[in-house]
Amino acid sequence: MAVRPRTVDDGSSFEHPLYTTLLNTPGLSVSVAALDDLLTWGLTNSLWVFPMATSCCGIELMAAAASRVDLDRMGTIVRGTPRQADVMVVAGTITVKMAPRVKLLWDQMPEPKWCIAMGSCAISGDFYRELYSVVPGIDTFMPVDVYVPGCPPNPEALMHGLLRLQEKVRASRRGEQVVRDPNPALLAITKPSVPRLVDAERTAEIAAAQEESAATSTAAEARAPLEFEAPAARPADEGLERRLHADDAAHFPREGPALVPVEQHLALARQLKAEGFRQLVSIVASHWPAGRGRQGAEPAESEHFEVAYLVRRVGAGSRLAAWAVRLAPGEPVASLVPLYAGADWQEREQYDLVGVPFAGHPDLRRLMMPENYSGHPLRRDFASDSPAAPWR
Ligand code: SF4
Repeated sequence: MAVRPRTVDDGSSFEHPLYTTLLNTPGLSVSVAALDDLLTWGLTNSLWVFPMATSCCGIELMAAAASRVDLDRMGTIVRGTPRQADVMVVAGTITVKMAPRVKLLWDQMPEPKWCIAMGSCAISGDFYRELYSVVPGIDTFMPVDVYVPGCPPNPEALMHGLLRLQEKVRASRRGEQVVRDPNPALLAITKPSVPRLVDAERTAEIAAAQEESAATSTAAEARAPLEFEAPAARPADEGLERRLHADDAAHFPREGPALVPVEQHLALARQLKAEGFRQLVSIVASHWPAGRGRQGAEPAESEHFEVAYLVRRVGAGSRLAAWAVRLAPGEPVASLVPLYAGADWQEREQYDLVGVPFAGHPDLRRLMMPENYSGHPLRRDFASDSPAAPWR
């Protein structure tokens, strides 16, 4: 009995009768190749964009769709849903809190799909990359096919990026493997410029120097002396005599708004609103370690917080009024939400970033940072390189 080789390598054992028939049909292979070209042409000229525009680069993305660059001429339509989009264009800064939402939207896009990182923020975090809240480049959590550099890249640069993407799509349709662009900056980074909390090289001296720098940076700012227009004493001001009024922010005293006892703060706000100060402009909290305080004021011996309020009387005779309260760590201050609806998110922001509790706030929870974020990043004892897994 003849012994057959165990492996027949001529491919004949895998032949299907239909394959042979197709192969022998005159002109079929040519037409199939032409059909493939046609499909590739259609695919590369209908790259629908999902706009993940978060900041200034988003304006350039919008401009790219306008008449001068006119993305539509290459079949690129911007869709507001991930389910009918082929290309996610990430245009702007992506924060730690936003990243899981961006990834979710990316996962909702059907295959095949591609991603363009537009602008330095999306590529590397740009000048925010060392910030507590910013992801240092979107390729830390999702694939990127084309990087469009610039701050911001102009619409023509985005158009160039889309042309590059078309080239890559064509190459992959030809069966050539297209490796997604590595981020050269990431390849060069082996460790952060400032040793992080978990790094063995981080010494107590580095930590102290960083804390010192954070604590003194505000006080070190040289500001030109401002003229202050003293408020006219009025009978209604008795007991709240340190309340300050001014025509505009430049006329407030350089040492900042007057300190009001925390128990009088709500009554003052009520009085001001009754006097026509109906617009809440801002609520800003700051944290001071022991022995430090705002510029021009007596430094407090112990750690404390200050919350400054600014309200405006709108219309003819518009004026501003500002005051501040000083709080011990953990001490609450009355919420202004019952008086000003706009205090809602402003108080949440200060609670989130500085850790000031606002008594009576209807929904006091984090605003900017993820719910599971640890610490309050705008406190002066918060190391700027604190890890925020998995990105930092
Ligand atoms: S790269 Fe520049 S223009 Fe673009 S989002 Fe960042 S800061 Fe704005």
